[in-house]
Amino acid sequence: MNQHDENPPQANARHEEIDWLKTPYYDGKDTLLKQQPYCYACKDQIAGLKRCSRCNVAWYCSAECQKKHFEIHREVCKQVAKDRKNMEQEAVVIRNWYNEDTNAFENLLETRVGDFPSPDTHDYLEARHCLADDLWDVAYDFGVKEVWEKSRFHYQELLRLDAKSPVLLRYRLPYILLYLNRDDEAFSYIRYWLNFDKLDEEEILTRHRQSREGEWLYPIEPNCRFLDIFQECPPIKNQREAAPFYGDRYHQDAYCCSPRCYFTCTRFRFDSNRRHQAPTSTIHHSRNACWY
Ligand SMILES: [Zn+2]
Ligand SMILES: [Zn+2]
Repeated sequence: MNQHDENPPQANARHEEIDWLKTPYYDGKDTLLKQQPYCYACKDQIAGLKRCSRCNVAWYCSAECQKKHFEIHREVCKQVAKDRKNMEQEAVVIRNWYNEDTNAFENLLETRVGDFPSPDTHDYLEARHCLADDLWDVAYDFGVKEVWEKSRFHYQELLRLDAKSPVLLRYRLPYILLYLNRDDEAFSYIRYWLNFDKLDEEEILTRHRQSREGEWLYPIEPNCRFLDIFQECPPIKNQREAAPFYGDRYHQDAYCCSPRCYFTCTRFRFDSNRRHQAPTSTIHHSRNACWY
């Protein structure tokens, strides 16, 4: 018996099942988030599902289902396995890095936290970023919480290793937090980066240096998701840096009436961009004529 008959999981639902221009699908919860894995082929959520042994982030109820789904799954499966292996290989190198000044080996994953980027760590960072992106792709298509969490973990760790993480690395985490229905964290995180210029650099670096693997490093205020992100953040000095969070505020032609709306629209924008379909005019809106 399928436990979720009333709300069966939809493979690739984000791509196929929703009319993006008409359906306000965010009402405080991401309805596509699946707490438990399910068979990616027949969508059954039963006990005893088997995990794909190559990528570890796909589940099937039977060998037949796995075979049936293989055409769809093959590329991403290969990619996840390859990038995970790359990351592990690069990790071996930086865990045993020879420091010519001290004539000793050191583990850069411990000694360089916060100030990580360098020619020595470049390949590791790149490999881990690729893996985080692959996991995002699988999580995005199938909505399984465990896979979102894995992707979140890698992005969050990349951000912890580099206290001044580049924009490209910063902007994905809030989306993942939203997909996981962790809106307060998403809001706090966005606010943190938009106020980053005002923070004390030395203090930030110390916090990163002293942190442990997996630790969340951004201040969280309970229920802050109900605040207005535009009032919470200073006028943007560096528009390029703020653009991924503000969306079209970069061009000064889109404003949101509330964080919820902002989140919705940002999600919407993101999903639309990903699908290369929605005309941008439906995404743009102003405080007076908010889409919601
Ligand atoms: Zn199945
Ligand atoms: Zn696989």
